[in-house]
Amino acid sequence: MKRDSKETPSMDPENWDEFRAKSHKILDEMIDDLEGVRERYVWKPMADKDIEPFQRPIPMAGKGLAGAFDEFSKYIRPFPFGVNHPRFWGWVNGTGTADGMIANMISAGFHSPNILHNHAGFWTERQVLEWFKGLFGFSEKALGNFVSGGSTANLMGLAVARFAKAGGQNLRKNGLDGRKFTVYGSESTHYSIPKALDVLGLGANSFVQIPVDGNDRIDIGAVKKRLAADRKAGRTPIAIAANAGTVGTGAFDDLEELGKIAEAEGLWLHVDGAFGAIAAFSPKYRHLLKGLTKADSLAFDLHKWLHQPYEVGCIMVKEGHLMEETFRHKASYIQNLPGTLSDVPEIFSDRGVELSRGFRSFPFWFSINSLGAQKFIEMVEKNIEQAKVLESMVENSPVLESLAPVPLCIVNLRYKGDKIPENKLNPINEKILTALHRRGIAVPSPFSIAGRFSLRVNITNHRTEIRDLEILIKAVEDLGREFE
Ligand SMILES: *Cc1c(COP(=O)(O)O)cnc(C)c1O
Repeated sequence: MKRDSKETPSMDPENWDEFRAKSHKILDEMIDDLEGVRERYVWKPMADKDIEPFQRPIPMAGKGLAGAFDEFSKYIRPFPFGVNHPRFWGWVNGTGTADGMIANMISAGFHSPNILHNHAGFWTERQVLEWFKGLFGFSEKALGNFVSGGSTANLMGLAVARFAKAGGQNLRKNGLDGRKFTVYGSESTHYSIPKALDVLGLGANSFVQIPVDGNDRIDIGAVKKRLAADRKAGRTPIAIAANAGTVGTGAFDDLEELGKIAEAEGLWLHVDGAFGAIAAFSPKYRHLLKGLTKADSLAFDLHKWLHQPYEVGCIMVKEGHLMEETFRHKASYIQNLPGTLSDVPEIFSDRGVELSRGFRSFPFWFSINSLGAQKFIEMVEKNIEQAKVLESMVENSPVLESLAPVPLCIVNLRYKGDKIPENKLNPINEKILTALHRRGIAVPSPFSIAGRFSLRVNITNHRTEIRDLEILIKAVEDLGREFE
């Protein structure tokens, strides 16, 4: 139908029927891309000529829906990140799902941000948080919030830790006022933790790095020793930041023991479970997170091993009231007037720094309704088992070697050839990684273990199949011979 508004200009389509027809075509094309993702290169580097279209002046006149999609198809569509490909195993990313794509579209149409208002979006968000509480074994008292990702979740968790252990409301009013604090974690801790401490004004140097054992787990004895020494030297420890899934190897710190230390020392226990915490959903692998209930706060991502569209992470705090005491501010324009749209029982902006934010939990709510929680558990289990298969493929290859234990879904491997001197191996493996990327074969990411360059394969990918791992093994063997 033609737009019936008498007022111009408007941003609505001139003709809804035409818009509908074009939109359906676009949707079909995006579904085609997803259906055919396996046939595509994983990643393709962009040449100078491919970057040129991104240096043009702002278009003052529009090209219409089809025109904009045309531009997308010409310049952006050929160069995706590649993370939805079955052989994308770099860093830690989620694959995304077809349901998630539709959910994001629905959500954009529904256009109901979670600010501080009483609408179904609020109740959805609350419901999903309740599900997570149950899955992780948090009690009724726990509160949470959806944030942009694991880094922000870590920042929010440590902000609550700082509030709880370094000065409460006085700290909020007067800042740190020259006082210094320390936070403990392992050498394998993600860099978002020191970054958070920097942003929180504690200084990145307040992060005390404790050595790891041969399994990439924090050395518990060393934590105790360092705490005692630091107290003796007049420092003020406030928190331990534990790993549930290190980014390098997927190792789990001993949460049970760290929880005991935290209790005994009066410290906050924050757990960075960006992807590893998701293993708690599986009855088979839940034991990896033994002691998680001792955590005062837990950060995890939905856009990694839960495969949600970017960006969504979550922070949960056991003593939920501390979260609100950390972040609550008052203003007359946000008063909670009974019976109105602003009469909301809980205010998410009192649990973090964001006021306006998206309906972040919706794609997950939608996918859980569509696929069922069991499917998500199966995908986690499948990836853990695939990592074991890959590890044994590496062990069975005469020219490859594994560089670290495989406690979860990450395999660190390299080409070793036949009696190639150690000092030649790093450059050869760097070349292999580069070729895997540039030839669009597979995307592992670079890592270094005791100075040895690793092809790090992180399988948080529901599309990966055993044949993909076979392709990888063969490619690494062939490339190794090529570059020897
Ligand atoms: C990815 C990751 C983070 C950061 O999460 P983002 O969602 O990328 O901000 C933090 N810790 C670990 C262990 C991670 O793997």
